[in-house]
Amino acid sequence: MTAAPAAALPAGITELAVYEVPLRSRFRGIDVRDGVLLRGPAGWGEFSPFWDYDAAESRRWWASAVESALEGWPAPVRSSVPVNVTVPAVGPERAHAIVAGSGCRTAKVKVAEPGQSAAEDRARVEAVRDALGPAGAIRVDANAAWDVDTAVARIRELDAAAGLEYVEQPCAGLADLAALRRRIDVRVAADEVVRRADDPLRVDLREACDVVVLKVQPLGGVRAALRVAEAHGLPCVVSSALESSVGIAAGVALAAALPELPFACGLATVALFTGDVTSSPLLPVDGALPVGAREPDRLAGVAASGATAARWRTRLDEVLAA
Ligand SMILES: [Mg+2]
Repeated sequence: MTAAPAAALPAGITELAVYEVPLRSRFRGIDVRDGVLLRGPAGWGEFSPFWDYDAAESRRWWASAVESALEGWPAPVRSSVPVNVTVPAVGPERAHAIVAGSGCRTAKVKVAEPGQSAAEDRARVEAVRDALGPAGAIRVDANAAWDVDTAVARIRELDAAAGLEYVEQPCAGLADLAALRRRIDVRVAADEVVRRADDPLRVDLREACDVVVLKVQPLGGVRAALRVAEAHGLPCVVSSALESSVGIAAGVALAAALPELPFACGLATVALFTGDVTSSPLLPVDGALPVGAREPDRLAGVAASGATAARWRTRLDEVLAA
């Protein structure tokens, strides 16, 4: 994107670029990922709220990008971050291949995809167990799709079939998560209920979950996410919002700065992209990602269409005006 938005950018932002990359499989209802990269004195930041989020909800995503570009990130306490392979709602053969080729020992499997059956979820999870072997860890993410009774039945079935490390956001609300948690033995992880809250610091998670999922952009940056972790005092997992390697590096910075990191993080999602903004993409080697920023030296190869760039200019104006 050559033309800046009409509204004034924060002082220090010297460059904006819009990328657009097709995904290998449909994920979270999208086939193409796009977003804006911004350059400042501390490096590059990524602003890529999904299109179903409005300008108000996108403001924290903008704050995260600005933090990366203007301030940089807190000092790391580790030099690499263990990650899980992410398995979209694909068939069992494809799921097996994705896991077998990943080098990861933990897999996060999408379940409860609209239009798919419980049998399809089970076949996918069983294929993932086969690929990982008995020592690997499997977590599933239902993206708030189930009511409590359905969640109890599905989680018991999947846990019996393949063994689950935890289930991420099985139901939508705090009360349902708490009710579910009393009825199952599998750990519950909270994602949407934290990051989409008006104030993620003040959500009362005490009865609702065992693990908190942190995402840098939706929580407003690495420092804001560290405050969320501290406020809840629960084990945390850092996941991506399906960013390019520039945005993933901020997630890795958060995972590297957390005092404790008991679980593999969901940051290996560049593998879902058909291309990247950099010649050194953040793809896992032996189940881990290195800590450190990424330079977007391949912007020309993933430059967005004029229509997409114009859409982002409008969006930036809305967010800067909000
Ligand atoms: Mg999730």
